Amino acid sequence: MMESGGKSSKDKVVAVVGGGLVGALNACYFARRGFQVEVFESRDDIREAKIVRGRSINLALSHRGRQALSRVGMEEKIVSKGIPMHSRMIHSLNGKQSPIPYGKKGQYILSVDRANLNKELLTEAERYPNAKMNFDHKLQDWSPDTGLMTFLRPDGSTQSLQADLIVGCDGAFSTIRKQFLRRSRFNFSQTYIPHGYLELTMPPVAGEFAMKPNYLHIWPRNTFMMIALPNLDKTFTCTLFMPFDEFEKITTGDDVMEFFLEYFPDAIPLIGVEALKTDYFRLPAQAMVSIKCSPYHINDRCVLMGDSAHAVVPFYGQGMNAGFEDCIVFDEIMDQCNEDFSAVLPEYTRVRVPDDHTIADLAMYNYVEMRAHVNSKWFLFRKKVDDILHFLLPKTIVPLYTMVTFTRIRYHEALQRWHWQNKVINQGLLVCATGAVLGGSYLIAKHPPKIQSIPIEKVWDRLLSLKV
Ligand code: FAD
Repeated sequence: MMESGGKSSKDKVVAVVGGGLVGALNACYFARRGFQVEVFESRDDIREAKIVRGRSINLALSHRGRQALSRVGMEEKIVSKGIPMHSRMIHSLNGKQSPIPYGKKGQYILSVDRANLNKELLTEAERYPNAKMNFDHKLQDWSPDTGLMTFLRPDGSTQSLQADLIVGCDGAFSTIRKQFLRRSRFNFSQTYIPHGYLELTMPPVAGEFAMKPNYLHIWPRNTFMMIALPNLDKTFTCTLFMPFDEFEKITTGDDVMEFFLEYFPDAIPLIGVEALKTDYFRLPAQAMVSIKCSPYHINDRCVLMGDSAHAVVPFYGQGMNAGFEDCIVFDEIMDQCNEDFSAVLPEYTRVRVPDDHTIADLAMYNYVEMRAHVNSKWFLFRKKVDDILHFLLPKTIVPLYTMVTFTRIRYHEALQRWHWQNKVINQGLLVCATGAVLGGSYLIAKHPPKIQSIPIEKVWDRLLSLKV
């Protein structure tokens, strides 16, 4: 047990506000160190609730998230209930399906059930005798000077508690963050994208998955897209991402059918006509927000983690993974700074802000990649080139997606490296193309016609079919 500021960790109260994914995991991290951990969650206990309202039904878990789970001994438990997705499966308008692997052979992301993950993490946190869960406690206000927090209970009463450290894990619309906004030199930006999302279920067919299960299915349609992730009960959760004004144009069951016939005809028999017509209107399309802020801390009293610090749009599948990685980074700094909050908190801000801001930007970028670039032959060609170079020079050229998803290279370093790699590869391609043109011109000049011309589509198709 380390000592700092007169109190040992055993005597210090750490209040984790928000018992969602990042809050529940954080409770394990702090409890492991011996702090008196109090988790406050505004909802009731999801392990007892009949309907769990949350955002997406399932999530893609990747390396950073797995590493964070592994440090509290939870990786195997969660991974065993996840479904590996080795490739994207691109659905063309004509129904053709083409896989694009996520990484090398053996690399995959996992589709996990959000509610189950949250429940498992709460149960794990509760196993520590020094961790206490307080459900139905909605934070109303708190004081950065004293650490006094006031909670509203369902019966209208209030309850107060004073903590040595307050960890804000209360999501994108954080109440903890409101105090930060009142302070000078706090930077904050919030951007709603013009797109919303809506979830539909694709049921099993004769007890089996309706599509190949080990893929993240994508129907890219340039300005919008649909994706589908597999669930353990052999359903797929399909998520339609589309500009709100397009959602608003669809007002009847017939409109839904017309829209799906035009853009996702292969999905109609799999979701089912009646289900489509009704489920589409079950809930309105949900908004997506990207939030950046800095600093992440107030003195030695409070720190923000997860979506309360950095809500990102979901297109890189990194929101939760980044939030889980926050817990590792904080934990590592706790070791470096001997659990002295006055040193840990500013260091955490210094280290983590550039990385979280980068993943917020990359997530925005990946939306265009997912809905539009995957349709482009140049994108597929460049991906192939990257894969070949990664195969030949595995340490020098690493695709951006691989760095983000399958390593713990800091997000901002991954981005810098990607820019450098792009410069080198594009220059290399330019040199090759120039050489080919000059060489070709020389050959044509020396041995006129007879050379049989190959249609450009065939050249692309051959290049894309090369197996690495
Ligand atoms: P939350 O999950 O929002 O939890 C916050 C908790 O705080 C909640 O339980 C809430 O009830 C509680 N709370 C709020 N206010 C108070 C209060 N005043 N007092 C007490 N408690 C409070 N990420 C990935 O890594 N991979 C994916 O594939 C992925 N897919 C996504 C798909 C969609 C459609 C969306 C919207 C997001 C996706 N994400 C994904 C992002 C991921 O959902 C979030 O990053 C993650 O949920 C953040 O966890 P959190 O604990 O910080 O916040």
